[in-house]
Amino acid sequence: HHPDRSTVWVGPAGHQVPIGPDSFTFIAGPCAVETAEQTLEAARMSKSAGATILRGGAFKPRTSPYAFQGLGVAGLEILADVRRATGLPIVTEVVDARDVPVVAEYADMLQIGTRNMANFGLLQAAGDSGKPVLLKRGMTATIEEWLMAAEYICQRGNLDVVLCERGIRTFEPATRNTLDISAVPVVQATSHLPIIVDPSHAAGRKDLVVPLSRAAIAVGADGVIVDVHPDPETALCDGPQALLGKDLRDLAQACRKLPPVV
Ligand code: PEP
Repeated sequence: HHPDRSTVWVGPAGHQVPIGPDSFTFIAGPCAVETAEQTLEAARMSKSAGATILRGGAFKPRTSPYAFQGLGVAGLEILADVRRATGLPIVTEVVDARDVPVVAEYADMLQIGTRNMANFGLLQAAGDSGKPVLLKRGMTATIEEWLMAAEYICQRGNLDVVLCERGIRTFEPATRNTLDISAVPVVQATSHLPIIVDPSHAAGRKDLVVPLSRAAIAVGADGVIVDVHPDPETALCDGPQALLGKDLRDLAQACRKLPPVV
């Protein structure tokens, strides 16, 4: 029932950033919020590379329960301070429906990660939050299942949903996940919702982030979301996929050299 593709606006009134067909949105930041200094530094690096939205996980959904789980509300406070310092709106993950109110209090956009794509209670709570939602594709979900997950949010009256292709699980071990780049045009042919690509979590390797971002741009994605860390070697989460230095500059260059999407 939506013949035109939608634009979702993220951030406070007067400082909103669009995600949609008329722009290419560059979202960047640390995988996890670890300290105030690390988050601020990653945000500054991201902003100077051209990012207009800051990502950063305060609640981390880790495969192992013994891995760093995030700083929780203390991490949200750091993100809010960094937003004040940089002016960048924040997208951050929520992993439990009970946390939606507190995450929505701090964040400009709620992220639902791959492991929770089909957590219908969480989707409904995010739908009720009044905030835009970034819905990542479940790593074993079909496009149809992913779009139906988005409906759980939209059904609550919240149409501000952005889809994120972040790779699916296949038999190929060379990358952590297989980026299903064809999902971008398939979704765009089926749904009015914007769709962005996460090359960092797809590949799990920093050397593939720039090439996969170029692929996202070429195929007509509405943006990318990438991991940036000032010192990836010491990162508490997903250091091998985090960009800095030349890689980040190359990505910035790729995002600037956008062909018009027609
Ligand atoms: C993330 O973006 O921090 C994350 C954990 O991503 P995914 O849910 O795609 O694994």
